[in-house]
Amino acid sequence: MPSRPQPRFPEPHTEPFWAAVKEGRLTYQQCTDCQTVVFTPRLVCTSCGSDRLPYRDSSGEGSIYTFTVVRQNRNPVFAEMGAYVLAWVDLDEGFRMLSNIVGAADPTRDISVGQRVRVEFEPQESGDYPIPVFRPIA
Ligand SMILES: [Zn+2]
Repeated sequence: MPSRPQPRFPEPHTEPFWAAVKEGRLTYQQCTDCQTVVFTPRLVCTSCGSDRLPYRDSSGEGSIYTFTVVRQNRNPVFAEMGAYVLAWVDLDEGFRMLSNIVGAADPTRDISVGQRVRVEFEPQESGDYPIPVFRPIA
C-alpha cells in the first residue's frame, strides 16, 4: 500500500474537501449566486466573488483531458511506483482535476485522451486521508 503526502491542517480552504474524501466522496463547489462550478476548493467564487459556495457531491466520473506517463520520479514517495499516469480529468459536473490514472496494465499504451474514468479512493499506509485517483471504466 502506498503512502503519499497527506494534507496538512488547519487549512480553511480545503478541509471540507478532505473530510468528504475521508468518507469516500469527491466534492466540488458551485456558486449559489452565479452557478459557476469551482475547483479547487476556495472561500469565494472565482467568477463573482460570492462567498455562497456550497460543496456538492460529484458522480466521480469523467474523461481524461490530457495525460503524461511519468517514468522516473526521484521523490522517494513516488520512486517505487514505476511508470505511472499523471492526468487532468474533466469531471462530468464541469471541473478539471489533476490526479493519477491507476489500473492500466501498461500505462504507456493503455491510456488515451477522452477515455472514461471513475474516481476511487486509494488508502494510505500512513495518514488518515485516502487519495482520490481515477481508474478507466471497463
Ligand atoms: Zn459566483
